[in-house]
Amino acid sequence: MLTVNAIAATSPTDPLVRTTVERRDLGPRDVLIEIRYAGICHSDIHTVRGEWGEITYPLVVGHEIVGRVTEAGTEVSRHAVGDRVGVGCMVNSCRECENCRAGQEQYCLNGNTGTYASVDRDGTITQGGYSTHVVVDQDFVLRVPESIPYEKAAPLLCAGITTYSPLAHWNAGPGRKVAVVGMGGLGHMAVKIAAAMGAEVTVLSQTLGKKDDGLAFGGGDYHATSDPATFEALRNTFDLIINTVSAPIDMAAYLGLLRLDGTLVSVGAPPEPLPVPVFALFGNRRSFAGSGIGSIAETQEMLDFCAERGIAPEVEVIDADAVNEAYERVLRSDVRYRFVIDVDSLR
Ligand SMILES: [Zn+2]
Ligand SMILES: [Zn+2]
Repeated sequence: MLTVNAIAATSPTDPLVRTTVERRDLGPRDVLIEIRYAGICHSDIHTVRGEWGEITYPLVVGHEIVGRVTEAGTEVSRHAVGDRVGVGCMVNSCRECENCRAGQEQYCLNGNTGTYASVDRDGTITQGGYSTHVVVDQDFVLRVPESIPYEKAAPLLCAGITTYSPLAHWNAGPGRKVAVVGMGGLGHMAVKIAAAMGAEVTVLSQTLGKKDDGLAFGGGDYHATSDPATFEALRNTFDLIINTVSAPIDMAAYLGLLRLDGTLVSVGAPPEPLPVPVFALFGNRRSFAGSGIGSIAETQEMLDFCAERGIAPEVEVIDADAVNEAYERVLRSDVRYRFVIDVDSLR
């Protein structure tokens, strides 16, 4: 066992504190990663506060992890010592179910193993990336292209793939009109990726406060959802709407923005069920869908795509001791657009 520095939650209400955590001995198919940066995702906050179900404390969160391989197991063939690598939201799956065999292990029918707060194969609870090192099976480790700066690569592992996957699945591209709801960590990546795919992108944000950014990231148009005129002006317009907001939205109003065969995909999850007015689906044969992260192969495709197109998230790098303050700022939407922890501050 390797004992490494980390910051952990010890209860739903107390601030995160410095501690140590144990990493398993390197198995033949494992790599040891020296973590350099870890992104702060809204899911981390929901999880440590027990808002997505009871968890076991202490818990180290963080599923936007980048670093370098410092040791590789005897059977590791996909990565070598010195490689720049990343780990996202999952670290294993059953590999046998229909979905795993189809290369969609994020939808493992036996439940994928989350990077934190999941029961690992050895029965321990997985501990995430707010930490100096992590041991991960080689099949769940991504190659991070050299051209993406380390600190900017981290948020791609969750925010990047969570938005790339539905954009790719629902064919965002030339001639397609895509709206992105919300301009936070996920939303700003959705705008950049959809624009890089060649789609015509409109940002729908509560106010016009981030309009300059939205247009700079590739949005062709930007509207405030606090203005009812927006929903009139944009009726029957979009092929695809990516909803990144995790608060409830007025489903009838948003579905009304879809044109024939359009789809509204939610990647943000409000804690309560959303009422869907079915008549809003009849008009224009609309669909309402969800999407969860992406497969390992698709995550690699996304990283390579972002490297080729030169797109990366906007980040604010912080020291580990600033995490509690960063959480408060994330909850106030006071970040442009993703906090990333400089893990050197934990060594
Ligand atoms: Zn996340
Ligand atoms: Zn499976």
